[in-house]
Amino acid sequence: SAVEQTPFTGRFDAVNSGQPRVRVVEMHKSFGPVEVLKGIDLEIANGEVIAIIGPSGSGKSTLLRCLNRLEEVTKGHVYIDDDDITAPKTNLDKVRQRIGMVFQHFNLFPHMTVLENVTLAPREIKGTSKEAANTRGEELLRRVGLDHLMDRRPSQLSGGQKQRVAIARALAMDPEIMLFDEATSALDPEMVGEVLQVIRDLAKSGMTMALVTHEMGFAREVADRVVFMAEGKIVETGTPDELFGNPKESRTQDFLGKVL
Ligand code: ADP
Ligand code: MG
Repeated sequence: SAVEQTPFTGRFDAVNSGQPRVRVVEMHKSFGPVEVLKGIDLEIANGEVIAIIGPSGSGKSTLLRCLNRLEEVTKGHVYIDDDDITAPKTNLDKVRQRIGMVFQHFNLFPHMTVLENVTLAPREIKGTSKEAANTRGEELLRRVGLDHLMDRRPSQLSGGQKQRVAIARALAMDPEIMLFDEATSALDPEMVGEVLQVIRDLAKSGMTMALVTHEMGFAREVADRVVFMAEGKIVETGTPDELFGNPKESRTQDFLGKVL
């Protein structure tokens, strides 16, 4: 059908597709004796944007990190389409090509230019030619509004600009799914908007995304679904209107009472 042939099918698929893009089944994660994820079940549809909110220490970052195997799950499974990426023989480079991640701290390479930061992984990991990587890199930097700064070093950029480079760098691997862990938390307030705009554009393009955020207004605006976590569990999931407007669980109500 026309829908299946469109590369970015976006919301239509998110609502209509039966097959989830990401499926987390009975996931547990312990650090030593401490269990920080206590049985997580979560599905993300193709083109869906989910926002994960919850108190500090509730396991949001650990959950995201388990999704692209920056952490190993203790029990349970993560499937992308039909592939169990928690299976022992999984190629981690492939997993991280499929799932891009953007962190609070951008970790750009200081000795490289902006363009070199963006093209490094495609060249080294995918074997993309320098020319092709540069063309794609420039295109992505244009998309985040930074093509005019591609020859600068990270130290010459503002925090918001650095984070936009980090997003372009993640996109350069052509991921199917993007994870954002508090991508705006380390930024000065006046730089938050430009980064949220890039994430918003990505959501509109139909990218499947999970974002951990403290920006409740943004979560409400951009997410198809909001997941509230506390103490290593998903307490409640709903549409933004349901979860922010009419939270059912007392723990959700308490949390929103403090942050809204
Ligand atoms: P959040 O992102 O919601 O603030 P985290 O996932 O970072 O929560 O942390 C959940 C819990 O796991 C916290 O108690 C934290 O101290 C603990 N934790 C996270 N990473 C590690 C680690 N590498 N080793 C030990 N404990 C960790
Ligand atoms: Mg965190």
